[in-house]
Amino acid sequence: MSFMPARTKYIVVLGSLLSGLGKGVVTSSILRILDFYNYKALPMKFDGYLNFDCGTMNPFQHGEVFVLDDKSEVDMDFGIYERFLNKSLTGDLSITGGKLFGSIISKERQGRYLGHTVQIIPHLTDEIISRIEKVSLEKKPDVQIIEVGGTVGDIENSYFIEAMRQLALKHEVVFINLTYLPTLDVVGEQKTKPAQIGVRQILQDGIRANFIICRSQAELLESTKEKLALFANLSKDRIIDDKDQKTLYNLPLHFMDIGFDKMLLKDLGLDAANLNTEKLHKWKDNVKRTISPRSEINIAVVGKYTHLRDSYASVKEALVHAGAKEDTKVNIHWVESTDYENGKGDYNALDKMHGVIVTGGFGSRGVEGMINIIRHARTHGIPYLGLCLGMQLMVVEYGRNVAGLREANSSEFDPKAKHKLIVLLDSQRRITNKGGTMRLGAQKCILPDKDSIAYRAYGKRVISERHRHRYEFNNSYRKALRNSGLKITGLTADNKLVEFVEWPTGFGIGTQSHPELKSRFETPAPLFVSLIEAAKSRNV
Ligand code: GLN
Repeated sequence: MSFMPARTKYIVVLGSLLSGLGKGVVTSSILRILDFYNYKALPMKFDGYLNFDCGTMNPFQHGEVFVLDDKSEVDMDFGIYERFLNKSLTGDLSITGGKLFGSIISKERQGRYLGHTVQIIPHLTDEIISRIEKVSLEKKPDVQIIEVGGTVGDIENSYFIEAMRQLALKHEVVFINLTYLPTLDVVGEQKTKPAQIGVRQILQDGIRANFIICRSQAELLESTKEKLALFANLSKDRIIDDKDQKTLYNLPLHFMDIGFDKMLLKDLGLDAANLNTEKLHKWKDNVKRTISPRSEINIAVVGKYTHLRDSYASVKEALVHAGAKEDTKVNIHWVESTDYENGKGDYNALDKMHGVIVTGGFGSRGVEGMINIIRHARTHGIPYLGLCLGMQLMVVEYGRNVAGLREANSSEFDPKAKHKLIVLLDSQRRITNKGGTMRLGAQKCILPDKDSIAYRAYGKRVISERHRHRYEFNNSYRKALRNSGLKITGLTADNKLVEFVEWPTGFGIGTQSHPELKSRFETPAPLFVSLIEAAKSRNV
């Protein structure tokens, strides 16, 4: 008998009609379900833009830049995948238009297509398929879920969708169409016409979806499903309801409640016998705590891109995760730091907060407002967590207002400042290219002081967190700041870079890293848990 190696099966998630329907959450929910059944599932994401990655984009353009352990700067959907799957992913799972065209052109220059006209079909489509197969071969997942960014009909993703059609000629592929199903307020009627148009558009591309997932406010009516099923050539049970959830972490459970899990496994030819009930129950408990927590607190999240909440997606979710652990609902109050500049600012509102977070960021806009807020938190005993820029500014504030270094700043904002407490990393001095050149990814850090907030949070001496920065604590000021009370509680193993600082009294900690990027629904970021603990015990 010959041995047949197990082959990876594929799911392709396409969006029709509009973007922003939550394709990332649907993809992640399917990942979660497959993991409940003990199948190894991996996501892949395609983004059509011609940037190599989103690292050079402004958060206003593309939301948060998510960073993986391996230093890849990827689309924020990777954050959702990791938060649901509780697994660290790798950069090869992210395919962009920029990466594809870049490698095609470099192959052409090497003469790898010698004699041929290099074309979208077959060269670009083959490149896509081979990247997908490479992941299957190297990582051997049972299922690979490919999320196609954008919507069907976009020029940017058209060649990718064509590649997906071709993928189905070689492999077993289940197609999912995520679409929108509006309810007309006046009549309260669920309208299927837009979804019908979406179905037709996908059919034009030679793809017939196995399932149509309908994003809607309320549960789909039987009559709605029947109607759409008829137009889509599908049985009624293949029209899947994706109604608003109390928490997005409930979506996998909702899909299981309506039997989508079983149908999907059947289409994939996978057995549904291995349901890991322990894993499932743990997830359910966590969802329950998220939906009906015992207490409630208010946290101010200070930033400069707060008009676009996607810029701080990981911070927002890290608060949900830590809140679930602490059985607490965390109400986020978004604070635009520029509102606290030039003598303005609502400090009474700040006093009502149980805690304050200053987020990461680049460029000088809003920085003085952040410093004002940090000072207020320190002098009024409001628990404080500084993330990356939030740590650097915690140092500047302390220098100016406690250590007597009045003209302190970061050289990023004032290269001529008398006391440059934050300076460009040595490793950055000769770098001129902007793409992928920051200090990135997972970096080890030592927490030497057992009595520190940091050590107590992590409960161990050696930790690893993800990074994305160019500037660092200026070591020539270590002594002066220490002498005035600032505690340095985390350092790189070679002692060269300061990774954590703390106020001498109260709860105030800043980290050069981005712990929010490693926070997951089931394993919240330790520093966020500590902040919430401290916040819960503040009387306002
Ligand atoms: N702009 C700062 C730096 O480059 C902080 C970066 C950040 O907050 N991610 O070091």
